[in-house]
Amino acid sequence: EEGIRINKYLALCGIASRRESDRLVEAGEVMINGRIARTQGVKVHPGKDEVVVKGRILALPEEKKVYILLNKPRNIITTNRDEKDRETVLDIVSVPQRIFPVGRLDRKSTGLLLLTNDGDLAHRLMHPSSLVEKEYLAQLEKPFLEKELKNLTGGMRLKDTGEKVSSCKAKLLSDGMQVLVTIHEGKNHQVRRMFWSLGYDVKKLDRVSYAGLKVGRLRRGEWRFLNKKEVKELY
Ligand code: URA
Repeated sequence: EEGIRINKYLALCGIASRRESDRLVEAGEVMINGRIARTQGVKVHPGKDEVVVKGRILALPEEKKVYILLNKPRNIITTNRDEKDRETVLDIVSVPQRIFPVGRLDRKSTGLLLLTNDGDLAHRLMHPSSLVEKEYLAQLEKPFLEKELKNLTGGMRLKDTGEKVSSCKAKLLSDGMQVLVTIHEGKNHQVRRMFWSLGYDVKKLDRVSYAGLKVGRLRRGEWRFLNKKEVKELY
């Protein structure tokens, strides 16, 4: 866990602006775990470190829970931080809360991604035993043979690792090059690997729905808050 810079932490706790917080540190008025904080660069870990200013122990205000639906564009990374400094979903969705993505979409994949600061819900949705349905539209580089549908849906073995995936639903669209696949697992690159295992390359992969939520009219890169009813239905 990476921690928060002391001036930001003081500001989040509502005791001073960032600039005033810098001044408090400079003036030696801030104690972290019983010692005076000497530099602005020092980081604190909320809930672990004790920060005292003028005799008062600080605490972050209880964070409001937020639930965000993003239509992820291509070439955006789903993780919180990227060593290569590439753009991540958190660069697109900017809210004061410390949110994180619920599960992952590959860099090249697009579509519905939930972000939240509600750890309980996120863990439940991501747990392997959860039966959350994820629907993907896979665009292939050649027509998909109808007779392969049962191989795709019947609980197949992935060619690269030999892992077995659960049975799933699939629908071949009329142009023959696009397949709608509904799975409830989340193995690494699962949909792409399922098609690879049958000899098809996935050109584009778009998640159109997740746990009953749909991307709807959001364009790529756009996001919105879930409403109360949508949140309730996730629980
Ligand atoms: N399956 C994949 O192969 N990629 C994704 O991004 C999601 C599911």
